[in-house]
Formats: sequence, C-alpha cells, structure tokens
Amino acid sequence: MVTPHYTEEYYCTKCKESKNRFDVDKTWICPVCGSYVHIRIITEDKDQACIRILPKDLKPDDYILMNRNDQYRQIFAVKELDDKIQLNVEKYGSWRIPKNMYVLKLIGGWYIKKAGGKL
Ligand SMILES: [Zn+2]
Repeated sequence: MVTPHYTEEYYCTKCKESKNRFDVDKTWICPVCGSYVHIRIITEDKDQACIRILPKDLKPDDYILMNRNDQYRQIFAVKELDDKIQLNVEKYGSWRIPKNMYVLKLIGGWYIKKAGGKL
C-alpha cells in the first residue's frame, strides 16, 4: 500500500477533472474511465506529472522516481523473476521490488495551476 504525499493532486486528462485521492488510491486509475490518473509530484526542484504503475508495465527508457528525495532515473531493462520484478536503473543498478509495488513513472511537467482547477 502506498502512502501518498500530502502535496499530491490527481487529475484525469480524459475526463478533464480532478480526482479525490480516496477514489484513486487503490489502483491509481480513474474510477470513471479507467485511464491512469496523473499525479502531481512536487520534489525539491521539480513540479511533475507522474502515474503510478505496476513494475511489469514499465518499459526501457521510462523514467521513474525511486523516492522523493531522489532524481528521476532512466530504466534500462525490466526482468520478471519468480516473485519479484528486477529493474535495471540508471546510476543505481538492479532494483528488485515486489510485483504489486506501484512505481512512480514520469509523464512530464505538471500543468494545472490550482487544485480542483479546470484546464
Ligand atoms: Zn477519467
């Protein structure tokens, strides 16, 4: 189970509306249309849009955030092991994580000015 940071905001680009954390924090998809919900991730020097996805759905060249105090790192390879997924991560190496552990994947810069605001 992920404990989201208090600064996170959630937005579905298909429905064009903000989402409540408690509607999305099980699977991180929009309960209305099933799209990945964009998540606002504010770190020390960046304000980005991410999605939370399962490690098996990551692809080489995706960028992930291993934790909030880290930089975004590129994935070089995704390998399925017996009970885990092994990600080969830029400047880190092998990162073996449970198959059901959601990972933050970078989508791009954040684009909505206010929580609850409309585009
Ligand atoms: Zn939606």
